[in-house]
Amino acid sequence: MPLSERARVNHELKRLGFGGLDDPNLIPSIAFFIRNHDHFRSQLFSVKPEERRHAYNALRPHLRFAAKPLDVYEAEMRQMAEERQLPTYDPVTHQLVEYKAGSVDLDLLATEAIRQNRHEKDHGLILTCASCAVVEVFRAKLRKDAERDSHKAGWRSNGEKNWCPQHVPERCTMKLECSVCPVTASIRCWDPQDGYAKARLCGWLIADDAKCPKCAAEKLTLQ
Ligand SMILES: [Zn+2]
Ligand SMILES: [Zn+2]
Repeated sequence: MPLSERARVNHELKRLGFGGLDDPNLIPSIAFFIRNHDHFRSQLFSVKPEERRHAYNALRPHLRFAAKPLDVYEAEMRQMAEERQLPTYDPVTHQLVEYKAGSVDLDLLATEAIRQNRHEKDHGLILTCASCAVVEVFRAKLRKDAERDSHKAGWRSNGEKNWCPQHVPERCTMKLECSVCPVTASIRCWDPQDGYAKARLCGWLIADDAKCPKCAAEKLTLQ
């Protein structure tokens, strides 16, 4: 992770009573997020090779399952690497990212540990709308589940501020052009994903290309 991000995480860790990213007390919190052998293996292989044994020894006693020997994971990894390009899970963005040997994924887990720690202290994800100050609490046990629930409920967050479904800022403009007729539309939205949802609600048909509500309706009648 970038230095500024590392400094921020270190600062957060210290605020929570940890010594920083190198604090051994952090390890149990990180180990908590490792779900299974696959997850553990991908974490191990996101650590620089020279630090892998160290990471393995540190995490193993705190895992929620019995780890296989490191050389077994290594053999599995080699086999998998031969079979395909390996993706790895990013616990912050919840996306699969391309496997990169030597990336410091454990730092991402540390960030996730901090968030989960706060989540448990607060007994849920407490969101306050930056516009109207309405408060809503999402009580899923895992913070990332609570985040997903809040997103489904229409809340949006930029990481610092949160907005209730009524006050989500329109940060971008999505331009739609009908692929059949000259109709265009500008849709103001939070992000493109929301923009597409909004466009569909207005009757646009969006697949490989876009069709305005009128052309979309005509296409349906023809079928
Ligand atoms: Zn609001
Ligand atoms: Zn059209």
